[in-house]
Amino acid sequence: MSDILTVEQDAIIRTVDKIAERYDRRYWLDHAHTGTFPRSMWKALADAGILGIAVPEPFGGTGLGLLEMALVQERLAEHGVPLLLFVVGPGLSLMPIVRHGTADQMHKFVKPAVTGDKVFCFGITEPGAGSNTMKIETFGRRTAHGYRVTGQKVFISGAEHADYMLLVARTAEYNSQGRDGLSLMVIDLKAPGVRVVPQEMLVQSLERQAQVFLEDVEVPESAVIGEAGQGFRYLFDALNPERINVAAMAVGLGRYLTTRAVDYAKTREVFGVSIGSHQSLQHPLAEAKTHLELAWLMNLRAAEVYDQGGAPGEYANMAKLGAVDAALEAADIAIEVHGGNGFTRDYDLLSIWTLCRLLKTAPVSRELVLSYIGHHVLGLPASY
Ligand SMILES: Cc1cc2nc3c(=O)[nH]c(=O)nc-3n(C[C@H](O)[C@H](O)[C@H](O)COP(=O)(O)OP(=O)(O)OC[C@H]3O[C@@H](n4cnc5c(N)ncnc54)[C@H](O)[C@@H]3O)c2cc1C
Repeated sequence: MSDILTVEQDAIIRTVDKIAERYDRRYWLDHAHTGTFPRSMWKALADAGILGIAVPEPFGGTGLGLLEMALVQERLAEHGVPLLLFVVGPGLSLMPIVRHGTADQMHKFVKPAVTGDKVFCFGITEPGAGSNTMKIETFGRRTAHGYRVTGQKVFISGAEHADYMLLVARTAEYNSQGRDGLSLMVIDLKAPGVRVVPQEMLVQSLERQAQVFLEDVEVPESAVIGEAGQGFRYLFDALNPERINVAAMAVGLGRYLTTRAVDYAKTREVFGVSIGSHQSLQHPLAEAKTHLELAWLMNLRAAEVYDQGGAPGEYANMAKLGAVDAALEAADIAIEVHGGNGFTRDYDLLSIWTLCRLLKTAPVSRELVLSYIGHHVLGLPASY
């Protein structure tokens, strides 16, 4: 048991261990290759209370917090079975509904997601706006019963198999003062006017990405989360948890890679000695391990602050930065330790590097994280 976790948190990790041993890296790779939804693994996570880990008990959840969610995310990745779906579903999509949704929305959308019967993806990115969320163009026009939404989202993880998308759309024109006019709404992906078109990506993940085209999609008032036009405020309850979950995934992937590298370095002999005896391999491994564990501590703090109702932006951004850099460091030395084997399909390391590399750019790029720290933490002028 870890010396900084509670007995309950440690039990959650053991539960994840059991699930990940059953739905292991082989299972993950099979589903990544075929693009099929990991239904049985998802169901096992639901049955263990993990999909609803941060959902209050009256709505079928386990009633814990983001810290426990991050522990799950980290542990899955440490077993080599990272799930973006867990980031975009239980994390990114459900958390703002839990914080700002009505009881009816909790019953209609959250409860079936907790049982695994309905799957959520999250749609914010657009081809034109890029990282500048304020400039998104997907627009919901007011109707008698809600909104008629038209627009396009790109790179939406899991959209092909999801039932719902938590959509970020404009419901008022952009104005330079800024923050008003974005709304969060739940889109039924089977509704008339929705078209999901898979995208060909070279990063290996269990979930495929897709473009989602919306053409005059009718969204009832009852599917708008919180107050229309206040979405930017609510987004912070989604995007900080996302950074924390991504940092957790990066730490888990980094731990998986360092363990693999150490195992290999101990047994591989060249020139009559184990390659692990060379400091030129040991030191980069030791550095990567240290950076991973430092980032992990920062991430636990970020999750704790969020769970206590505080503003975790500073810690969440720093943890994301540190964790992803450390995971990439671990990926690089793990490949180096494996020599030529590091590039083979059998040893399956490059595919994990692509995932670590993805996390440097998405869901938020390293540059924007640094700009956040420069501006919000150091107080330097805004550069975006
Ligand atoms: C595999 C994958 C899965 C994804 N899943 C989802 C999903 O489920 N849902 C979703 O909504 N989106 C998803 N995304 C989108 C992802 O969040 C975006 O790709 C990411 O936020 C970067 O946005 P962009 O691609 O538009 O890049 P851009 O915004 O065009 O940025 C391009 C480059 O310019 C840099 N840049 C831009 N502005 C500045 C600035 N002011 N200062 C310094 N540098 C700057 C960026 O850092 C980046 O390096 C996914 C993307 C991928 C690749």
